Amino acid sequence: MLDLANRELKFIPGVGPARAELLKKELQISNQEDLLYIFPYKYIDRTKFHQIAELTSDVSYIQLRGKFLTFETIGTGRVKRLRAMFSDGTGTIEVVWFKGLKYVEDKYKPGVEYILFGKPSVYGHQLSMAHPDIETVTVNAAYPKAGLQPFYNTTETMKSHYLNSKALHTIQVSLIRSIQERIPETLPDSMLKKYRLMPLHDALTQMHLPTDQARLKQARYRLTFEELFYLQLHILKYTKDREKKYRGYPFRHIGALFNTFYHDYLPYELTNAQKRVLKEIRHDMGQERQMNRLLQGDVGSGKTLVALMSMLMAADNGFQSSIMAPTEILANQHYETITSFLDGMSVRVGLLTGSTKPKDRKVLHEGLLSGDIQLLIGTHALIEETVQFKNLGLVVIDEQHRFGVAQRSRLWLKNEMPPHVLVMTATPIPRTLAMTVYGDLDISVIDELPPGRKPVKTVHQYENKRAPIIQFIRGQLAEGRQVYIVYPLIQESEKSDYKNLEEGFKMTREAFPDVEIGMVHGKLKPAEKEAQMQAFVSGKSKILVATTVIEVGVNVPNATIMVIESAERFGLSQLHQLRGRVGRGADQSYCMLVTSYKLSEDSRKRIEIMTSTNDGFEIAEADLKLRGPGDLEGTQQSGIPFDLKIANLSRDVQLTEFVRNLARSVLEVDPELSSEENRVMKIQLKKRFSQSINWGVIS
Ligand code: ADP
Ligand code: MG
Repeated sequence: MLDLANRELKFIPGVGPARAELLKKELQISNQEDLLYIFPYKYIDRTKFHQIAELTSDVSYIQLRGKFLTFETIGTGRVKRLRAMFSDGTGTIEVVWFKGLKYVEDKYKPGVEYILFGKPSVYGHQLSMAHPDIETVTVNAAYPKAGLQPFYNTTETMKSHYLNSKALHTIQVSLIRSIQERIPETLPDSMLKKYRLMPLHDALTQMHLPTDQARLKQARYRLTFEELFYLQLHILKYTKDREKKYRGYPFRHIGALFNTFYHDYLPYELTNAQKRVLKEIRHDMGQERQMNRLLQGDVGSGKTLVALMSMLMAADNGFQSSIMAPTEILANQHYETITSFLDGMSVRVGLLTGSTKPKDRKVLHEGLLSGDIQLLIGTHALIEETVQFKNLGLVVIDEQHRFGVAQRSRLWLKNEMPPHVLVMTATPIPRTLAMTVYGDLDISVIDELPPGRKPVKTVHQYENKRAPIIQFIRGQLAEGRQVYIVYPLIQESEKSDYKNLEEGFKMTREAFPDVEIGMVHGKLKPAEKEAQMQAFVSGKSKILVATTVIEVGVNVPNATIMVIESAERFGLSQLHQLRGRVGRGADQSYCMLVTSYKLSEDSRKRIEIMTSTNDGFEIAEADLKLRGPGDLEGTQQSGIPFDLKIANLSRDVQLTEFVRNLARSVLEVDPELSSEENRVMKIQLKKRFSQSINWGVIS
């Protein structure tokens, strides 16, 4: 059977060893099959000619047939350009060149028939096209040309070796023409029939040599369908395997600690969402299989309490648990919150961070090894090898996107059987993406805020209008409230980037001379940072000028204003996180997005979204649409362990759900994919995913 994966690139007619090397290196591919899966990023319709008289300002690429009327050189020196008028009998269009003037003038003549291909723009009433592709009309050729012209992404290096989009297309065509047999099918025949999918051979051919829009669309659909189907099949199958494989400690009963806390110590009623999630967690941990659960809840939804009560379940069953926070400030904050919740109960809680003194560390280590310490709160410090537990039963990871995968995996080595894992995140992940990235984790969602919270009011303000901002802040300060002012930093390590922050600090001091103002950023020594944060938490300082180090999880209910400077430089999820620092108390809170006057289209959209909704999920969906999934915060580190060649998770939502159900029903009937008909699926799974890391285990 034909196996293109075993055929070398250099054997494609017209390629040879040198170009093969270039392709390999630049496109990260290794064989002919890989090359076929390098798809065009767009197609341009050359099947028809446009008429100049009918052009509107919103057309993109067009094809014209006609003659040049005049050529003239305009300007001198560096601003010199060549300007021609081109007519197709219905009207005229201006054509300009800024480079290669001499070449153009020599080559093209008035009165000769040409085909122009390019993207017009409008200046005033004049249509104009710069540097079009030009073809001379020849007697024997048929016009317009059949088909759609594909465009491929190429690298600078490729271009400098004459391997541009056109050349790559020629290679693809040459490859397709050299294939004598049909490319073997990768989906069962019954599926092709049932869902009317184009055979693989035809789909791949269409992608590179499309005959018309309709067939191209079918080809794309078939390939997207297949890509998403195998992804879902992999995830579902693998989840089943994991269920069988990874046994966990069953926490069979709810005991004294949990009940005492619930009835006598809990300062408020749990929200329904918190109750539901606790039930889900309890159910999971009661099984003999290891829990791997992602808890999503918007900022301020009360995840900490859910974590604490889950940890009490572990303690009731004689197990230790730990909660790991991404920063020292957060670990300290959790420690304070949790110890004050538990004040009066006999639960031993430990705190372990980078600044824990060696002496205290030793005591902690002993307490953990003997089992005396039931709850351990900490930072990365707690995954060091020297930290050993008597019986670690549950690990809670707060604000998951700050942890690298490798760090998380070390937790698994702490015990004989893996502890239950609860990953908490305030960066909501849209459903499609969650299904794909975390398809093998169970997901709980707290979709309700504690009662009495007033939604944060968000306004947009241009930076040249500071007076109203300052006045507003003054009013809130007079009422005893506190204020965050946040500046962007591109790289915490770059000194020049601190200029903004320092100037902002100075400006704030001048505007509020009689107010205590703190400043925190990533370059402060931990102790100094801690002192500044503490001053703000305790209410001693009233304004905190900061970088995004405060983004994650800090809780100061008395703070009611979040001013975000240069807001256009932040991503949506970051803006949302920052805004979540206010609106944590009973008072009305405000978020002010300060931007420069000139905003890009994308920045304007982001600001618009922020001022129109407080819903983290809505914002995450919008973010996914604006940026595309690869870019989404939280997925980079958790890593989509595969790269999608044609599917797009934000666009193909419905298809994803459809093929997921399909994959599920396939597995229900034939869990091992051992039937003759499903054999092809088994082969595909192996081929596509045998390299991928076992992500579920290390999340
Ligand atoms: P996050 O989900 O962002 O981590 P936190 O756990 O920090 O949120 O909770 C935010 C605030 O809401 C805390 O002050 C917490 O004590 C409070 N809180 C949590 N649950 C409830 C509840 N059911 N009713 C009222 N307040 C609550
Ligand atoms: Mg939190």
